[in-house]
Amino acid sequence: NLQGKTALVTGSTSGIGLGIALKLAEAGANLVLNGFGDVEAAVAAVTVHGGQVRHHPADMSKPVEIETLVRYAEEQFGGVDILVNNAGIQHVAPVEEFPVERWDSIIAINLSSAFHTTRLALPGMRARNWGRIINIASAHGLAASAGKSAYVAAKHGLVGLTKSVALETATTGVTCNAICPGWVLTPLVQKQIDARAVDGDVARSRHDLLAEKQPSLDFVTPEQLGALALFLCSEAAEQVRGAAWNMDGGWLAQ
Ligand code: NAD
Repeated sequence: NLQGKTALVTGSTSGIGLGIALKLAEAGANLVLNGFGDVEAAVAAVTVHGGQVRHHPADMSKPVEIETLVRYAEEQFGGVDILVNNAGIQHVAPVEEFPVERWDSIIAINLSSAFHTTRLALPGMRARNWGRIINIASAHGLAASAGKSAYVAAKHGLVGLTKSVALETATTGVTCNAICPGWVLTPLVQKQIDARAVDGDVARSRHDLLAEKQPSLDFVTPEQLGALALFLCSEAAEQVRGAAWNMDGGWLAQ
């Protein structure tokens, strides 16, 4: 039961972030959503569960805006109890052709933003001696794929950050863990499926994408990831610290 707790989920207007926000709201938490796109639909969907819901449009590539976001959550609800660092982008290109500005934005959004939210939200969690920091890494936080140098570097970095923060908070009521999803059918992955499709055969491309990495041949869902995040928020998960927990249809078992 997360009644009275406040969750800040970055990049929660779509995909995995929205799935996690919905589960936390269902458990009674107040939510601060963040991200672009169809903000109204996301706020409406999360509001159904009855807790209070806010949205802040901070660009997670900008440290100043990230500070505004965390302060906004504190002003609105008195503090951030659950921090889910989920905002992320992808770009696929060989390393020697990788656009420099895409490298910089992937490192900023997928890795540095979690450093900023953590350093800003942690003092309040320590003061209340309760907190949950959940970093949405990836199977690419633990293994690599060709063409994804920036993403793989950022997600491995995020797993490292997770472990460091878990050690620094080990004797407190604050835990820090990473979740490492395999393929989830969100706009981020649909773009890759479309880009790989030969002669517009999207169904074939989707199958091939799964067959390459994910032995279950099925997608992980945002709902399933939300349920794992909810478990990490529970008292039963108090001694889960510094884990990089994969939910990946068997990807990393290979
Ligand atoms: P998505 O594209 O559906 O959602 C991304 C969210 O981040 C959106 O709400 C978007 O508005 C927001 N966002 C993007 N750039 C932002 C910025 N600069 N500032 C603030 N918000 C921003 O993607 P998704 O697949 O749900 O991915 C969510 C996270 O899960 C990412 O970190 C991604 O790397 C990770 N992940 C995804 C998969 C997958 O298969 N989809 C697998 C492993 C990990």
